[in-house]
Amino acid sequence: MSLVVVGSMAFDAIETPFGKSDKIIGGAGTYIAWCASNYTPVKQISVVGGDFPQAELDALTARNVDLEGVQIKKDGKTFFWSGRYHMDMNTRDTLETQLNVLGDFEPVVPESYQDAEFLMLGNLAPSVQRSVIEQLKTRPKLIVMDTMNFWMEIAMDDLKQTISMVDLLMVNDSEARELTGEYSLVKAAAAILKMGPKYLIIKKGEHGALLFHGSKVFCAPALPLEEVFDPTGAGDTFAGGFIGHLAKTKNISFENMKTAIIVGSAMASFCVEKFGTERLREITKADIDERLAEFVQLANFNIELG
Ligand code: AMP
Repeated sequence: MSLVVVGSMAFDAIETPFGKSDKIIGGAGTYIAWCASNYTPVKQISVVGGDFPQAELDALTARNVDLEGVQIKKDGKTFFWSGRYHMDMNTRDTLETQLNVLGDFEPVVPESYQDAEFLMLGNLAPSVQRSVIEQLKTRPKLIVMDTMNFWMEIAMDDLKQTISMVDLLMVNDSEARELTGEYSLVKAAAAILKMGPKYLIIKKGEHGALLFHGSKVFCAPALPLEEVFDPTGAGDTFAGGFIGHLAKTKNISFENMKTAIIVGSAMASFCVEKFGTERLREITKADIDERLAEFVQLANFNIELG
């Protein structure tokens, strides 16, 4: 049941039409760990600077997140990202990316992580993601990869090489278009499935997510929320719920992936309700179950074909 997660651990500064945050804790790996640890223990790989609060690391340890693979560069600064959302909250501009300790990060996979059955490659330099795959002596049952437009712009060849090595890629709709040059998501999906992965998830923000596998497609809704406070980390939280469910159930069938997408969508719907990781820290099992029941209602219908 072991899950290894790789991803940035960061400071973020976020502006939305509803407010502005100071430097808060963020990072793809952080969101994935907070979310996936609801389902299964996590073995984390990342890097932070000496400025990253020890209390944050302790909070993750208390959630059963193993931090042996997280390097602490005492004299370095933690990765910093800032972004501004537009009124529709589906589009955002990156205002600043300071790679800091992430710039020359060389991950080292601890011996105790070697038995990993599931590998979640959260958003990071594709060469770093690839290095983790290459260090694992036995190939995990499932390798899932997330990425973002930033890497398409500065490291496309590297990115395509890593994509060719994974089982499932998850990107958002604009990233799928940027990666393939195809506007139609169906054509973009076909092009991405030719790059190597057997499965593809295209996230469409408030419009849900699509899962592609061969000629099969599954469509999961997003919960219509009255208020989206801060979408940062929604994609990573989705990833954490998706892989967390698969790792917990140890079943990587297409049918179980459909359930995993709903779990990911339900967890992402919590993430956006408050700034940063705040909401993910406070939700309980009862909250999650209630939200999953809402999803069942949302997408369930009967039709008589005659
Ligand atoms: P999401 O909203 O799911 O796309 O993820 C947002 C998180 O990704 C933020 O917490 C950022 O710290 C992190 N992030 C943004 N840009 C990068 C990057 N180039 N590499 C790694 N992590 C990033």
